[in-house]
Amino acid sequence: MLRPPFSQEPIPINNWDVIVIGAGAAGLMTCLELPSNLKVLLLNRNTSKVSSSRWAQGGIASVVRQDDSFDLHAEDTLKAGDGLCDFQAVEMLVKEAPGCVERLQNLGMIFDQSSDQLATTLEAAHSRRRVLHVKDRTGRALVEVLEDHIENQKNILHCRGVRVTELLIENKECRGVQVLDGANLYWIKSRAVVLATGGGGHLFTNTTNPAQSSGEGIALAWKAGAAIEDLEFVQFHPTALKFYGAPCFLISEALRGEGAILVDKNGESPVKNLENRDLATRDQVSRAIMKNMHDNNVDHVGLDLRYIDPEKIVERFPTILSRCQDYGVNPLNEVIPVAPAAHYWMGGVKTDLNASSTRKGLYAVGEVASTGVHGANRLASNSLMECLVFARKMSSIVLNDLSKFEKFDRSFQEFDIEDPKEDQISIIAEKIDELRKLCWLNLGVSRNKVNMSKFLNYIQNDIDKLNKNDLLNSLEKIKFDQKIKLSERNRRALNLLLDLKNRQITFKSRVPLIISPFISQEGNPLIPFVWHSSYSLSLPSLAHSTTFNSLTASLPNNCF
Ligand SMILES: Cc1cc2nc3c(=O)[nH]c(=O)nc-3n(C[C@H](O)[C@H](O)[C@H](O)COP(=O)(O)OP(=O)(O)OC[C@H]3O[C@@H](n4cnc5c(N)ncnc54)[C@H](O)[C@@H]3O)c2cc1C
Repeated sequence: MLRPPFSQEPIPINNWDVIVIGAGAAGLMTCLELPSNLKVLLLNRNTSKVSSSRWAQGGIASVVRQDDSFDLHAEDTLKAGDGLCDFQAVEMLVKEAPGCVERLQNLGMIFDQSSDQLATTLEAAHSRRRVLHVKDRTGRALVEVLEDHIENQKNILHCRGVRVTELLIENKECRGVQVLDGANLYWIKSRAVVLATGGGGHLFTNTTNPAQSSGEGIALAWKAGAAIEDLEFVQFHPTALKFYGAPCFLISEALRGEGAILVDKNGESPVKNLENRDLATRDQVSRAIMKNMHDNNVDHVGLDLRYIDPEKIVERFPTILSRCQDYGVNPLNEVIPVAPAAHYWMGGVKTDLNASSTRKGLYAVGEVASTGVHGANRLASNSLMECLVFARKMSSIVLNDLSKFEKFDRSFQEFDIEDPKEDQISIIAEKIDELRKLCWLNLGVSRNKVNMSKFLNYIQNDIDKLNKNDLLNSLEKIKFDQKIKLSERNRRALNLLLDLKNRQITFKSRVPLIISPFISQEGNPLIPFVWHSSYSLSLPSLAHSTTFNSLTASLPNNCF
């Protein structure tokens, strides 16, 4: 059942078996895999249907051809992950993938066919053609099939425009969530919670991800005391559209799989020194492009599609073609300007093979989770499959004992706090933008310890200021039996403040892990962690023309 955004229909605050946070591939599939006798509440902060899942282009990886095998798929995954994958998780993924494809087909998903078989394409670091697709809009096709089923299922209530602001922890168990539902703030109880909040590409200014992919699930889990790991492993996609005024729209790797090649401004290949050239792993290609751009003092390289049959481009890649044409680039007769952008987060909430976090009652599925499948670098098209494989584990979810609110007041109380001024709200939004730019400069493709340390100090300073914010502080005082109604300005300010605070928490938890490999959230040595040498490459002059100091100096200092 769907409860549309801005609905005044109250969400029951008690008697839910499972609350699923996030309606991308992971959250939707989780809802369908949970036993159908459970009462499930699906919450999505978005009022629209946008998600990374919906934007996925290339496809879903699974062994389906005679010339392929589970061993080969596992070997490619482990190699891309640079030896840092969890072997058991990888084995489970590759073996269960064909079953998940069958499940999708049974649900009504129609993959592209070639001569009566599933059509497959090649993507970087795959040794066989094993990427199944629906033209270049695989994610959209997947999400639409899942949404159709969910909306017909009576045990599931799907609510759009409801943002989870806190996890409810009682007796060390996760037992519900706090939500901002339109202008209303209140707690909802459940016997288990599944985080399916996606990744954190939007922490960076250059990203292929939508705005809600800002690592919020990591911040929620972190505050709830669940272990997180491998946050230093962020995948930068080598080819996002780089065109003045255009978003970093993803130019799928499947194009290079079909024969497109990278060229620099001198007509040479920026990846000529890599063993697998255009189809080397994404971290290698991204770094090679960054170096080339730096050496040539430009902000992009080109992707030349003229090696692919134009009919095939029109047939297989209609979305990419039309998006490029929207910005005045015609890929059929000119190169597409591209540059790396933050794309996928390998690290996240630490989970076991059953998608359980270290906090009882809290599960994590999809990009928010760190299952060990991807190691230091995700193999292309393994992520949608990871959502499906781990969502399946939810069929045997273990629930906490039933607990009820002792009492609650059904009427909403007005929030007794002064409205912020309009310009104060826009200053918070500017602050978020600045943070994203700093993140790109200091934690992007090229990193070095000095800049990361400065960045950490800057964040700490800002966290200290934000901790004094009245609106945020009053959130913590809201009791479980209270329901609060916010003014419109406070609602907008709170949404932005939470965004800013959660981004800061995510950075705070992330930067020390990168700088000092053995520091936990409390600052104690806890999470054993291997420094991944391929990410230590630093190109100091790539700090671009803007230095860290000049950026911090330009930050507004009165935004709280
Ligand atoms: C442009 C692009 C192309 C891609 N192409 C491919 C591909 O071809 N193959 C592949 O395997 N992978 C691809 N990926 C990666 C893949 O799409 C993602 O890893 C995957 O979709 C993540 O799914 P998810 O369900 O975990 O998260 P998402 O799809 O990001 O969904 C997260 C959901 O959580 C909600 N949410 C977040 N925070 C809150 C909160 N506090 N309260 C309530 N709701 C919240 C969001 O609104 C959203 O509904 C691509 C990614 C992008 C961005």
